[in-house]
Amino acid sequence: YSDSQRRLIQIHEALREFYHYLLVNTENGSEGLAYLNNRGLSDETIETYQIGIAPENGQLAAQHLLNKEFSIAELQASGVFVGEERQLRDRFAGRIMFPLRNERGETVGFSGRILPGSHHANAFPDAAKYLNSPETDIFEKNTFLFNLDLAQNEARRAKELVLFEGFMDVIASHNVGVQNGVASMGTSLTNNQIKAIDKTSKQVLIAYDGDNPGQKATLRAINLIHDQRLRITINVLAFEQNLDPDEFIQKYGGDRYLQFVGNQRLTPIHFMRNYYSREYALQTDKGKIDYIQVMLQAIAKISQPVDRDIYIGEIAKDTDVSKETLLQQLSAVVGKSE
Ligand code: ATP
Ligand code: MN
Ligand code: MN
Ligand code: MN
Repeated sequence: YSDSQRRLIQIHEALREFYHYLLVNTENGSEGLAYLNNRGLSDETIETYQIGIAPENGQLAAQHLLNKEFSIAELQASGVFVGEERQLRDRFAGRIMFPLRNERGETVGFSGRILPGSHHANAFPDAAKYLNSPETDIFEKNTFLFNLDLAQNEARRAKELVLFEGFMDVIASHNVGVQNGVASMGTSLTNNQIKAIDKTSKQVLIAYDGDNPGQKATLRAINLIHDQRLRITINVLAFEQNLDPDEFIQKYGGDRYLQFVGNQRLTPIHFMRNYYSREYALQTDKGKIDYIQVMLQAIAKISQPVDRDIYIGEIAKDTDVSKETLLQQLSAVVGKSE
């Protein structure tokens, strides 16, 4: 690190401590704490993730840092503050604060969630649910994976890394014992994030939200990972339409979640069969043809002949087209992609 990067990390560590103290130990935090407890997070989880609250008065955090001998220029470079030099305000004022840690466990940014029903939320009804730190000299979004530092060890032990969409899914999972999870912080997984996954584990379990954007993003993630040819084994958890992992836990409890994570995993091909058989009308010729086209393209990327044969058998059943014909078409698809 350069000196200025080290100072930026110190600012973030000081803020993490400040926000966390306010949440856990002061009246300012009672509403936020009740919200988190209501979502099922234990005190221990709140401690582990150093969750905090940014005071409604946006000047307090700045004052706290200036008292610690950080300069106005350093506060500006942190990305946490907005406004004129003498009137720096916390851009996260009133939000629940989630420290974003790098691979080494250092706090390099924050994500702030609006606290439903709070004075702040009522005053700004159009405010985004989540607000993230901007990019800085210590925080690069497209390489960042939430919780990678903590998940690394557990992923080595479990020989698998779980990829979530939201960091609340990571935290809720940790809370019930799934500790090898990271989050891409949204649905647009990047190639740099895939490289970081690859360094950590050769097996990944994609656990994106059950809604349409989440399922679309799952498909995209499968293709992105395949296209990088990294020999990562992929499995998928498909949640009900209206549930994300955190909501699954809230609805069914931790024990059923652990069973679901352990036993309900799908292969990518199986996931795609489910996905595309809903997308295309398989009772029509056109639907069948489109379905066969996308599925053969996916199967063509599989190198093991036995796996291919099994999957071709399944597509034959799905469409009432003979295996022989599908295999013929498959060699055409393989020929094209080579
Ligand atoms: P919650 O359970 O608190 O509502 P969530 O994790 O279910 O949160 P999603 O809407 O599924 O939230 O979003 C998943 C992830 O996408 C979030 O963790 C966040 O990193 C990112 N995200 C969502 N909305 C925004 C936003 N408005 N700005 C920036 N990032 C966002
Ligand atoms: Mn989502
Ligand atoms: Mn979600
Ligand atoms: Mn959620």
